[in-house]
Amino acid sequence: MKEKDPQRKTANDEKNGRTREQKAEQTAKSAIIVEEAAVAKVASPPPPGAKERRFRQTDLPAHFIERRKHPRISTQQPPPPAPPRMDDYAPIIGQPELDEIRFLARHLRGKTVKMVNSTAVGGGVAEILNRLIPLMNELEIPTRWDVITGGNDFYEVTKGFHNALHGGDYNLTQQIRDIFMSYNEQNRQRMEFAEDLFVIHDPQPAGLVRSKSQKRGRWIWRCHIDLSNPHQGVWDFLKPLVEQYDASIFSAPAFTRQLSVPQYLFYPSIDPLSEKNKDLPEEFINKVCDDFGIDRSRPIITQISRFDRLKDPVGVIEAYKLVKKYVDCQLVLAGGGATDDPEGAVVLQEVMDAAGDDPDVIILNLPPWSALEINALQRASTVIVQKSLKEGFGLTVTEGLWKEKPVVAGAVGGIPTQIIHKLTGVLVHSVEGCAYQIRYLLTHPEFAAQMGRNGREHAKENFLITVNLKRWLLLFQILLGMARPNVTI
Ligand code: UDP
Repeated sequence: MKEKDPQRKTANDEKNGRTREQKAEQTAKSAIIVEEAAVAKVASPPPPGAKERRFRQTDLPAHFIERRKHPRISTQQPPPPAPPRMDDYAPIIGQPELDEIRFLARHLRGKTVKMVNSTAVGGGVAEILNRLIPLMNELEIPTRWDVITGGNDFYEVTKGFHNALHGGDYNLTQQIRDIFMSYNEQNRQRMEFAEDLFVIHDPQPAGLVRSKSQKRGRWIWRCHIDLSNPHQGVWDFLKPLVEQYDASIFSAPAFTRQLSVPQYLFYPSIDPLSEKNKDLPEEFINKVCDDFGIDRSRPIITQISRFDRLKDPVGVIEAYKLVKKYVDCQLVLAGGGATDDPEGAVVLQEVMDAAGDDPDVIILNLPPWSALEINALQRASTVIVQKSLKEGFGLTVTEGLWKEKPVVAGAVGGIPTQIIHKLTGVLVHSVEGCAYQIRYLLTHPEFAAQMGRNGREHAKENFLITVNLKRWLLLFQILLGMARPNVTI
């Protein structure tokens, strides 16, 4: 065998080496081109007016930077829109589904319902009741909504209970028990209980069940919180009250406890016709993006959440930074209440510190009347994130699914009920996992789009207010002895 000329070998090796390097460079370049092409595609179809606004971060025009520093946030609460009517849902759920609801309601016509909770405004329960009760009345099931009253001492106790039921530490003294029961007793004396059905929401008014009579009325306890890991003392105190009800309802299979009364599963719901979820004209979405300095020509990753550590906004920024190394994108973190919640203000500061001077991280502290703006932000998003470390049901996930967006979310609380991994969204367990999935979705637009379509179908089947309404009608029929199920619904 002929020995190779050492000099030639070196030259050849160098040449080969260079060729390899060139090849690698070429591959990397085409990978970048593929990635950029995919990104361009995922952001497509470009919204009207996007063409003339195709900017890189480095040449972002001054008015964008300015808006990011001083977003145009509305300072006045707009008047509430008229509540939708049953017929308005036909284009969304179809006439047969609407007919089925009307059919179920016909048997309940004239039956009276009282719903009781602890607040008329703010919070998910009030939001659901605001939409559900007009629909029940339209179906000729007279439904009343009462709110219990209490002093600061009562609300301190119920807030303590709320945290303790989520697993926090708590010192349950006799005085606390007395405060809870005496306000429940006061409300019980003040209210009348003449209806056919009573729905008591959450622990605060649970003691009203002492008005239950053997002769009349069926009592339902609707628990909206996660009881999977409660403070034992608080739960031992509440459980005997809960077991006096005729039925209980939980929001996810994982949230329940062992009880002697029947348990039903009702998912929380969103209203597809509310300001938060209704379809919006592209021009309005563009305007909101302009007001907040968001560039619609590049991918937008969004998390909408209160500024709360359990929503892990800083983790979202870390994930974004990992993605940003490969894909030129923007991150929108929009939340509210940070000005009136001392902890919220601290977390907002932590978020701003984590964002540093990256102009592509857009942090918005929105007022409570920003439903339309939140809707627009969700619709403008390329990927929606909800990287919670702990979660209730996670309505922001539902909202994202409904808007046909690929959703990346922490596998906690009610989120796995909504996200079937890689089918209706993706579940993540870490910053790196979150970054990997976001990057994957940004570079695989067909997959992202299909997941978005699946997510919308899943939301339509399970998490719309019309589905929720149907469940109420069925449960009322069961409790009034009109229907006999073999299995719980
Ligand atoms: N939301 C809002 N403004 C904000 C932040 C959140 O209106 O600044 C809405 C969000 O769109 C969703 C709800 O508040 O409808 C939050 O519900 P979720 O179950 O996701 O979380 P929670 O805040 O109840 O823990």
